[in-house]
Amino acid sequence: MIISKKADILILRVMKMIFICDKCRFIFSRTVQPEQCPDCGKYAVREANEMDRQEYEEHLKEFQGDENG
Ligand SMILES: [Zn+2]
Repeated sequence: MIISKKADILILRVMKMIFICDKCRFIFSRTVQPEQCPDCGKYAVREANEMDRQEYEEHLKEFQGDENG
């Protein structure tokens, strides 16, 4: 049986969710939602909405750009 790469990527996307801290705006990806923010430790973590996700992806791009010099 052939399993497509697309399906693999889709599963990864579903398993890893993106969360944001309302106190310090720290955005991170986890498989489960933590109670506390890993950055400031406040109990203000919620699931990231579409706008937050876009911001997160922008951050990732910036970070990768830095590595290339
Ligand atoms: Zn925080």
